[in-house]
Amino acid sequence: MRRTRLILSTVLLAAASWGYAQKPAIARDANIEAKIEQRLAKMTLDEKVGQMLELNLDIMGNYDASWKWKLNETMLDTIIQKYKVGSILNAPGTRASSVEQWQYWIRLIQKKSMEYIGIPDIYGLDHNHGVTYTQGGTLFPQPINLAASFNTELARTGAEITAYESRAANCPWVYNPVVDLGRDPRWARIYESFGEDAVVNAKMVVAQIEGYQGADPNHIDRYHVGTSTKHYFAYGAPWTGKDRTPAYLSPQLIREKYFEPFRAAAMAGTLTMMVNSASVNGVPLHASYEYLTQWLKEDLQWDGMLVTDWADINNLYQREKVAKDKKDAIRLAINAGIDMSMDPYSVDFCILLKELVQEGQVKMERIDDAVRRILRVKYRLGLFDEPNTGGKGYEKFGSKEFAQKSLQSAEESMVLLKNDEGLLPLKAQRILLTGPNANQMRCLNGGWSYTWQGTNAEDLMEPYNTIYEALCNKFGAGNVVLEQGVRYNEQGKYWEEHEPEIEKAVQAAAGVDVIVACIGENTYTETPGNLTDLWLSENQRNLVKALAKTGKPIVMVLNEGRPRLVADIEPLCKAVVSILLPGNYGGDALANLLAGDTNFSGKLPYTYPKEINSLNTYDYKVSEVVGTMAGAYDYDAKVSLQWPFGYGLSYTTFEYQNLRVDKQEFKADDVLTVTVDVSNTGARAGKEAVLLYSSDLIASIVPDNRRLRDFTKVELEPGQTKTVTFRLPAKQLAFVGADGHWRLEEGDFELIVGRQVQKVACRQTKVWDTPNM
Ligand code: BGC
Repeated sequence: MRRTRLILSTVLLAAASWGYAQKPAIARDANIEAKIEQRLAKMTLDEKVGQMLELNLDIMGNYDASWKWKLNETMLDTIIQKYKVGSILNAPGTRASSVEQWQYWIRLIQKKSMEYIGIPDIYGLDHNHGVTYTQGGTLFPQPINLAASFNTELARTGAEITAYESRAANCPWVYNPVVDLGRDPRWARIYESFGEDAVVNAKMVVAQIEGYQGADPNHIDRYHVGTSTKHYFAYGAPWTGKDRTPAYLSPQLIREKYFEPFRAAAMAGTLTMMVNSASVNGVPLHASYEYLTQWLKEDLQWDGMLVTDWADINNLYQREKVAKDKKDAIRLAINAGIDMSMDPYSVDFCILLKELVQEGQVKMERIDDAVRRILRVKYRLGLFDEPNTGGKGYEKFGSKEFAQKSLQSAEESMVLLKNDEGLLPLKAQRILLTGPNANQMRCLNGGWSYTWQGTNAEDLMEPYNTIYEALCNKFGAGNVVLEQGVRYNEQGKYWEEHEPEIEKAVQAAAGVDVIVACIGENTYTETPGNLTDLWLSENQRNLVKALAKTGKPIVMVLNEGRPRLVADIEPLCKAVVSILLPGNYGGDALANLLAGDTNFSGKLPYTYPKEINSLNTYDYKVSEVVGTMAGAYDYDAKVSLQWPFGYGLSYTTFEYQNLRVDKQEFKADDVLTVTVDVSNTGARAGKEAVLLYSSDLIASIVPDNRRLRDFTKVELEPGQTKTVTFRLPAKQLAFVGADGHWRLEEGDFELIVGRQVQKVACRQTKVWDTPNM
């Protein structure tokens, strides 16, 4: 009961706190704060700077003759006793280890930390769609799939399970959720967050933080973990499309969209945040006092801890060229507000930061502030009282119950984009299964799956079903012919393919009734995932073109980390399903959906582009569409896309009626109650994501075409109608004006759900402060 109430109060706080907070995002626990002060008062400068360093486990061991990684205790002693290092991260060789192995390593680290410094270590892992680095645990669909499900409950439950399984492995801290906003399809990491929209990211991040951390961020129990919401902010907007390169964004875009999910995360009490490796408008985030200290720590009064991304203080002098050497870079970053440096391979940070303090270049108050924040995280996680978890009480690790949740998430996240003549569900038919993604677990999972790039881990994915295996189970092995036609070079870069064997696939099509073409991408993350051409590989498109000539109907299954262009082959396919990166149970989920045992309910979490130089988001500015001008000036500008944001079909049909708003006229402090009736008008049960949009018709700066304001998901039996209610604070219809202030302006708005539109009018302009813009 207590738990439920607390969850509710967090949600309400998040929803109600739209302006800029004057009080802390979460109320502090006086008891914890007193302990922090007592501890801090006793700490030496060496101990303080040591707490501020995070090292990579890899440097504390070696591989033995049988290629088994061994922790070197003498090395660990040096790191903890001499340098008093407060945090360690990562899996050796970035490959998943067993629970037992994690237990052994982290227990040893905790033993030495308590013995030598009396402060527990905080161990961090990229457990970001399930327990990436722990063998035998549960992998979920990637976050982009959760976004496509438009079901925040799935995000919450998945995070809860990941927290439990992380603690089973004795790991108290995960580098997740990710809310970078995937607004540029070229970027390699858009699958790691919740798509292009700020509200989807904000709602999902709040749900995940509650799932990971539990109901009370001050007292996180042994089944929950601390989160590191990342990468603060606008990491997903590189101008070049390439990972870790600069973003150039208007102040409005930053405040209204990129900052928004991080604000929601702060208000929901995320214990930590990880900082964007790149720069925005020429300012590296790691060196920005304004963005780190003013926006987060002062404006929001967020009392959590800021950790750098991988070696990013070094990058301030090595890559970004805003500091002359490492010491200068440390000075800049710590003074800007960084609390912990993820400096994977070196302890120089401790030596140089100590010098900076002694020279007066970094003030002791700044060090104390950083250490307070680090200690607060450790106290909130209960690490002082119980530095180790796991063992008894964690029997559900890797259980069927957890697998079932992963399967359900995969099913709810797959998007039916086309289904001409009701080709799907598949009837009793012989199937040709083709394409490079047809029989590879790796592709279903994506990057961060047992290994960093998702490579070389097929052995660990062996227990799960590829699409081929799942279709054989579902339709009978005798009815499924596998001829891939194009295969990835598993030893090469993610885009490398073997010499295609398209003719073989064409011949195999002769004896079948329907072709299921599983195409897309192999796995990647970060800079190894950069691309130079958004089109789907030529071999794969040639495969579909050749198969289309057989006249057999084609179901195109898109299994990819970002929307690759398919405009030339889409018309050749009767049905299209986007499965994104659905995880270990993705093959089974797809088989269930293709067979019609369960219904589609996913919707696209991003705009799927059609043309290489027409990369839009759904919330484009109205003037991006220009009709044809008269006379000599007969040009136009069009938004051209393959499939829109929020698009997705079902085996049933839904109808929206009676969109109502309780107030036709409103002022800034009003809350609008918006209701709409949703009916299942088809013959099958189904779930429908209901999306509420608004349009500001006239504004003092060019308005967005439309904006998603809220969403929910309902389940309806055939013939059933449900009334969906949204409570929309009028302030959420505001935008950031040219002067950097939030503005809700007098005038007409439209509220839109499905094809239903209601006009409402704001009767009073209100402008409020956006500090430091
Ligand atoms: C990535 C982060 C990740 C960190 C630790 C970095 O390279 O950008 O997302 O959490 O490594 O593995």
